[in-house]
Parts: sequence; structure tokens; C-alpha cells
Amino acid sequence: MTASAKRNSTAEWQAQDRKHLHPFTDHAELGRIGAKVITKAEGTYLFDSDGNKILDAFAGLWCVNIGYGRKSIADVAHAQLLELPYYNTFFKTTHPPVAELSKLLVEMTPKQFNHVFYGLSGSDANDTIVRMVRTYWNLKKQPKKKTIISRWNGYHGSTMVAASLGGMNYMHELADLPLPGHAHIKQPYWYGDGGSQTPEEFGLAAAKLLEDKILELGAENVAAFIGEPIQGAGGVIIPPSTYWPEVQKICKKYDLLLIADEVICGFGRTGYMFASEPFQIEADFMTLAKGLTSGYMPLSAIMVADRVAEVLNSFGDFNHGFTYSGHPVSCAVAIENIRIIREEKMVETAHDETGPYLAKRLEEFKDHPLVGEVRSMGLVGAIELVKDKKTHKTFEPVGKVGTICRDHCVKNNLIMRATRDTMLLSPPLMWTKGHIDEFMKLAKI
Ligand code: PLP
Repeated sequence: MTASAKRNSTAEWQAQDRKHLHPFTDHAELGRIGAKVITKAEGTYLFDSDGNKILDAFAGLWCVNIGYGRKSIADVAHAQLLELPYYNTFFKTTHPPVAELSKLLVEMTPKQFNHVFYGLSGSDANDTIVRMVRTYWNLKKQPKKKTIISRWNGYHGSTMVAASLGGMNYMHELADLPLPGHAHIKQPYWYGDGGSQTPEEFGLAAAKLLEDKILELGAENVAAFIGEPIQGAGGVIIPPSTYWPEVQKICKKYDLLLIADEVICGFGRTGYMFASEPFQIEADFMTLAKGLTSGYMPLSAIMVADRVAEVLNSFGDFNHGFTYSGHPVSCAVAIENIRIIREEKMVETAHDETGPYLAKRLEEFKDHPLVGEVRSMGLVGAIELVKDKKTHKTFEPVGKVGTICRDHCVKNNLIMRATRDTMLLSPPLMWTKGHIDEFMKLAKI
């Protein structure tokens, strides 16, 4: 615990914090109950200012893949801060950590990706991709190709463009979003759609909605399609196996660029290094963040396919970039983080051992009268609560039961997240079967 954390009591921290603006927070409620003050973290446990030890089944915000408290990360960051704490990659400069990380990412990602651009967050990375998409079509002399199609309930970040790509109504309201040039189609949510077709039929039908939207808008006006391989914040929506190959075909047929937002899925979360592999996505852009540094430092990376990079590079300056693009400390941390993921075989363990074990244990919830479906892939999963298991009818108002369950977990010193009435988990990849057993004990009502 830092010296300042020791000095203050919970009430003092809360009083200092209360009037400030927090992301995705009901400030009236915050004022009433005060914030939970997290003072320390180790492995998969958080410690709060009241001395509680909390099991974090959400890896912070889907990001702390290697778990908390890794000394080697701190050592690497410390050494880099002394060696070269800051320099940029603007105006024909570079530095060793960024060059080394780019080499690593090109080796690790699908073969079409040989070019990297850096940002600080998933949101600014998606914003940058939209700018690249526009530049690409303008350089290809097809300036009408502007609209980007995405999915309802998709999440791509919080900047004006990223929130427009996203399909969260509550983020659009009051901010006059989405911005022009964005269109949305339904998410491939087999269970939520009633489950009357086979998943395979449903996957094809859900992909067909993309074709319908392209024909409605005119292919000459549509620039790209963006999607998370598995929708995370939208409820851990795992598409049927037929969905992505069909989406891929449609993008090819109508000459759309395809963007795979792997901000959550990347770096082992699904039991694969990138989820593009099992879902057979051959994208033109891949968005990476979160697991890239396991949240130890802010960093995002955009993987750009050769066919796009060739066009972008055919013109002079790409007039875009952030002061901290490719920050040396973030890049050094990312390299060490990837070393840990690989050396500790976290992806293989999530695929062969902990992922299947989690799937098996989640099945135990299925007998509960309120549990409609459980689903998982690797170490990302969901427990969907419904009013009627037969019809999949949801509760009214939607979200109330989810909030009650989330608060119940917090009381039990367990962090899960609720989307509508679905409980989500996305634990650190260093979880063992023992951690899964501990989770089951805490989560069971
Ligand atoms: N894309 C996806 C799939 C995400 O889940 C998120 C954040 O949760 C983002 C983009 C935005 O990332 P950031 O919060 O780093 O801006």
C-alpha cells in the first residue's frame, strides 16, 4: 500500500472523489453509497481500503490477462523510464521498443498483417481505422464509399466515432450519435433471438442482414464492416460457426474493408492468441489493446493488411498521430507482457485446460430457475438470466436483475459484470482450476 493510501480512511477517499466525473457511473448513486476504494492488487485478487480481499473475475476491464503484481513488468518499465522515458515516432524517427514490438506483432498476427500503427486506447485505435478507411477509398478514387456498418450492442469505444461504430443506444442518447456515415445491423445473438433456427442457419441469416443493409445503402456508398469476433460488452455473444465466413464472403462480394476489433478477444482470451483464427476471419484491419499490455500501461495497436498499407503508403504524409503513439515505456511493457503470455503458455492453458473446465463448471448453473443459457470460449463467459427459460423472455425492466446479481457478487467479494441481465466473466488468464472452483463457490446463490 502506498504511503498516501495508508494515511487516508475509506470515508476520506470517498469524500475527495465524490464530486468528480467517473466513466459509466450513476453519479447520484455514487454520491449516496460512495466509491469502492481499491488500494492494491496481487495475482487475481484486489484489496480494498476496508481490508477486503476480492476475487477479480473480470481482469480489471477484460484486460489484465497476466494477472496483477508482475515484478518483471515493473522492472522493464523502470529500466525503460531511465533509458528513454519518451520519444515519438513522428517525422521519420523511431526507437528500439517500438521497432521490436512491431516485429513481434507482425510475427504473431495473421499473415496479411505486416504494418502496425500505435495509439493509446481501443477507442482511438478504432477512430484511427475509420480515418484510414476514408483515406483508402479516397485514394482509390471511390470517395462515395464512406458508410461503415457495425452491429447493435457492439462496443468499439467511447470517442465520438468509436461510440458511433458501437451499437449501444444508451451511449448514443443525449450525444446526438451515431454521427452520419454509420449504419447498424442486428448482432448474431442466437439465444436472444429465440433460438428457433439451428445455430448454423441462424448464423447465415444474421450474416445476410449485412448483405441486406449493403443493398439498402448501395454498395458504392459502403466503406467497411466492423465487428468483434465475440461481442464482449454486448453480452459475450459467441456467433455460430457459419457467421464469420459468410460475413467475409459478403465483404469480398461488395468490396468492403473488414475490421476485426480484437480489443477483448486478442492475446489469448478465447483460448487462441487471436479470435480471428477460430472464426476464420481474414480482416483488413485488426484492433488490439487491453491484453496487449495486460493493462499495465496504455497502448493500442492497429494491424493493417498489406493491400491497405500499399494504398496508404502510395501518398505522401499520413497526417495523423498522437503525442504518445508508440510510447517507449508502453511498448517495452507490451514486449514483456507477450513474453509472459508465451512463456507461461497461457493461451494453450486457456484452450486445453482452464477453458474446458470453466465451460463444464458453468453448466452447473443451468439447473437454476433463472438461468436461460451459459456460454463460454476460453476464459470469457456469460450466464444469461431470463424470466422464462422456455421462451427466453427477459425480465422487465431489463437490467434490474443483473444489477441485483452484480451487487450480490460484490458483497461476496467477487467482481463480475452485468450486461442487461447477463452476468459476464473474463478472468486473468493465469487462473487455475482452483480459481475456477473458488469462483463457483462465490458466484452460486
Ligand atoms: N473495442 C472493444 C471490443 C472493447 O471492448 C473496448 C473497450 O472495452 C474498446 C474497443 C475501447 O477500448 P478503450 O476502452 O481502451 O478505449
